[in-house]
Amino acid sequence: MKALRLEATGRLAVVEAEKPVPGPNDILVKVDACGICGTDRHLFHGEFPSTPPVILGHEFTGIVEAIGSGVKNFRAGMRVTGDPNISCGLCPECQRGRVNLCRNLRAIGIHRDGGFADYVCMPETQAYALPAGLDPLHGAFCEPLACCIHGVDMAGITTGQSVVVLGGGVIGLLVVQLARLAGATRVVLATRNAEKRRLAEQLGATATVDPSAGDIIELICGRNGMLPDGADVVIECAGVPETIEQAPRLARKGGTAVILGVMPQGAKVSIEPFDLLFREIRLLGSFVNPFTHARAADLIATGAIKVEPLISRRIGFEEALKTIANPAPSGEIRALVIPGL
Ligand code: NAP
Ligand code: ZN
Repeated sequence: MKALRLEATGRLAVVEAEKPVPGPNDILVKVDACGICGTDRHLFHGEFPSTPPVILGHEFTGIVEAIGSGVKNFRAGMRVTGDPNISCGLCPECQRGRVNLCRNLRAIGIHRDGGFADYVCMPETQAYALPAGLDPLHGAFCEPLACCIHGVDMAGITTGQSVVVLGGGVIGLLVVQLARLAGATRVVLATRNAEKRRLAEQLGATATVDPSAGDIIELICGRNGMLPDGADVVIECAGVPETIEQAPRLARKGGTAVILGVMPQGAKVSIEPFDLLFREIRLLGSFVNPFTHARAADLIATGAIKVEPLISRRIGFEEALKTIANPAPSGEIRALVIPGL
């Protein structure tokens, strides 16, 4: 089969690889689509630990082609999405139910072969069924959506609240939609690209802000701002120092700021503890997708979350190689790798 493999840091190749053979508890999936995520670029540059040689791709969907003898809930022909994060079930974190914090966490497409390939193999425990009639590409959004659901759960958004979302990439645009579904009545998205702001408004943002047009603290929670007291909830989805620093400042007294964006290990930002203390701001980090993949699959299966407008390009393995090795083109939301293209 064809696959896009990380051979070593900085070295990606389209290769002819062995078609995987499912073990007793595995399912073999013929891949329909797999999203390219910023993490794939970090893996390429060695900024995120992985174990090459490894086929990348952790946002995959496809059709079950074969199952192992012990598989109980899947059969050939079913449409599925995979949760790439495999926890051990045995470590103290797993035993406390904090599976995303597992000390032996291993991910498909990072530590073992993933979905930038004609076929991917995964333990049955990682698979979730999707309706047969679903658009074959849409299941590729279950993984990023599952991460967003965890962030929105941590924020505890309730009906009638105001939410600020910082960053209009795929994560920000999914969070905007989840915030509306959770009952937020005012959802303000800040991102620099005008096309992304337009899309956010189409997907449910009640207002958008261009952070390059001025001081967004003033624009959003200044005296004449959109939310003069600040937001009940701020969700940071850009992963740059400015937005991490802005997140707690945009929250109202007693409000919550959740950081979803990833900054390089060792990076520092400046936060004012006095402000956190005297305004009782809850500042939280949200990491991957503990027990949220089934809900993500359901939100996409039912069309409650719109993903079609988030597809910027459909590309083959060769184009994917160039896309991962270079910075994301301006305005790109998600490029999907489609085997055979
Ligand atoms: P992305 O496509 O890079 O989106 C982030 C967007 O933020 C950029 O496209 C950029 O759009 C915008 N941005 C940059 N500087 C900004 C600023 N100063 N103010 C406002 N917006 C700004 O990435 P993504 O795929 O959506 O992911 C977002 C972040 O979440 C990344 O850091 C990713 O690694 C992380 N992530 C975390 C988890 C988790 O489990 N916590 C899971 C998946 C992804 P403009 O050009 O329009 O400004
Ligand atoms: Zn564990």
